[in-house]
Amino acid sequence: MCGIVGYTGTRQAYPVILKGLKRLEYRGYDSSGVALLKEGKLKVYKKKGKVAELEEEMIGKEIEATIGIGHTRWATHGEPSDRNAHPHSSASGKLAMIHNGIIENYAQIKQELLNKGYTFTSDTDTEVLLNFIEDIKKNNDCSLEEALRIALKRVSGAYCILLIEQDNPDTIIAARKGSPLVIGIGKGEHFLASDASPIIEYTKEVVYVNDYELAIVRPDELILKNIGNEKITPYITKLDMELAAIEKGGYDHFMIKEIFEQPSTIYDCLRGRLDAKESIIKMSGIDQNIDQIMNANRIMIVACGTSWHAGLVAEYIIEELCRIPVEVEYASEFRYRNPIVNKGDVIIAISQSGETADTLVALEKAKENGAFIFGVVNAVGSSIARISNAGAYTHAGPEIGVASTKAFTGQLAVLMMMALAIAKQKGTVSKERYDHLLLELEQIPEKAEAILKNAKELKKIAEKYKNASDFLFLGRGYNFPVALEGALKLKEISYIHAEGYPAAEMKHGPIALVDDQLPVVFIATNDPYHEKIVSNMQEIKARKGKIISIITEGDTVCPGLSDDYFSIPLVDELIAPILTVIPLQLLSYYVGTAKGIDVDKPRNLAKSVTVE
Ligand code: GLU
Repeated sequence: MCGIVGYTGTRQAYPVILKGLKRLEYRGYDSSGVALLKEGKLKVYKKKGKVAELEEEMIGKEIEATIGIGHTRWATHGEPSDRNAHPHSSASGKLAMIHNGIIENYAQIKQELLNKGYTFTSDTDTEVLLNFIEDIKKNNDCSLEEALRIALKRVSGAYCILLIEQDNPDTIIAARKGSPLVIGIGKGEHFLASDASPIIEYTKEVVYVNDYELAIVRPDELILKNIGNEKITPYITKLDMELAAIEKGGYDHFMIKEIFEQPSTIYDCLRGRLDAKESIIKMSGIDQNIDQIMNANRIMIVACGTSWHAGLVAEYIIEELCRIPVEVEYASEFRYRNPIVNKGDVIIAISQSGETADTLVALEKAKENGAFIFGVVNAVGSSIARISNAGAYTHAGPEIGVASTKAFTGQLAVLMMMALAIAKQKGTVSKERYDHLLLELEQIPEKAEAILKNAKELKKIAEKYKNASDFLFLGRGYNFPVALEGALKLKEISYIHAEGYPAAEMKHGPIALVDDQLPVVFIATNDPYHEKIVSNMQEIKARKGKIISIITEGDTVCPGLSDDYFSIPLVDELIAPILTVIPLQLLSYYVGTAKGIDVDKPRNLAKSVTVE
């Protein structure tokens, strides 16, 4: 994780870096720092806590410089503290470096350096790599670039690093493997960052650096090389996002802004792909590879966190509509457990950032075994998008809030359209059902809007239950993964322990937790098992649990059984998860804010998990 920013040009570097770090804070925020270089003097400032604390610390400091690097950290090695914060300085004080990732064999290298008499001021793997580079430079009497290349051949793990050197007044040297790096190209200036958000207001021309590439960046020059020292022509891409999309636009938090954006992000996702009147779904990634996908032996969905929940919904839908066996895997398990992947298998990778480290490695492995990779990704141009054989973007726009909301509903919309497109080609769905579901999908933005109009009702419910120490979320069928997602959201941003369960499974254990203090959230919208979930409610009520239910408008049974309820418009059960999750997102947001938590930056979390 970690956010990385670098600048070299003619402007003042510090304001550019500071603003960039604030935009990248979703990636990590336990400490931050900057290194600035002016007239042969390399100054490093760092501070535990959020970027705002660094900003305060910097008041009155010497910040003039036209080259610099900055970092906002998500600790992997060493507790969050001033001394473990990045940038790190080398033993001689001549180099400064920031790093996103993990150097897996750092202990061995550290021991070698300790034997040579090096001492360390931090507990990080980063400082080890930095001194290793410096040691190589000294012993080989070579350039920093050369030393870096030699060092990288020895290290295992993931990194994106930026290095500056006291005696090199305008050059940033960067390298990447596994952690993202984008370089913005300006006039007589260059911007480096973990994603495009710090760059967008200065230039729209960017180069995405690939794994095993090194960049030598000066105000007027960008040289890209591979690890074998061969030059590569930089491939310039045009960004198509706007600055407004990454600002709060009058909302208190990014999370609530992103929840409220959903009618339009879902619309953007469907637009141009779905036409209910014409009975068409057009998705080029599917259309161009339809035989491969339709005839898959099986589909494996690989994802982490919220994306994994979208995968579970997709499993139910694809099996129902397409009659293709589906397995859903946690990427972190998949990559280590020696799974059976063969030619003829289709892997769907779901990731908001497109940089999730575990998912990326899992895909590389599956690709080697001949599987066809289909990426469902939000961040355009990201690593997963680039290594996939085909894919579909969710078009939710930049998601900054750490707890994923609009990306999840975008993923569901894409996966539902995919399933429908495949089922139609395969002939496993009737024309009538297909047309009905297309119509239902088309109406989702409007229905989401209707839910958001009543958000205040959930604020009241949140106030009532904000002091609970545990929550249970229950759902059946397509809404079971939504129960998991509701529990995850609440944990993430309110720090309340929560569990999601299939409603009937509750009797096999969790029911022991039920007492008059336990709020139980039921997703009890209209579906064929509605009566069953009503029985589950009775069981909770009989044990005095507090029932909060998400129901379909006009339901006359559930309100009588519930302590609190929230109604959503009538929707087909297969499409329902896109809507039923919205009240749960709102509930978590309001509980989190009622408890005074910074919901955009909940403790210990980071958004784009680029470390394993
Ligand atoms: N491993 C480095 C540290 O602990 C960087 C962590 C990261 O990228 O999240 O400081």
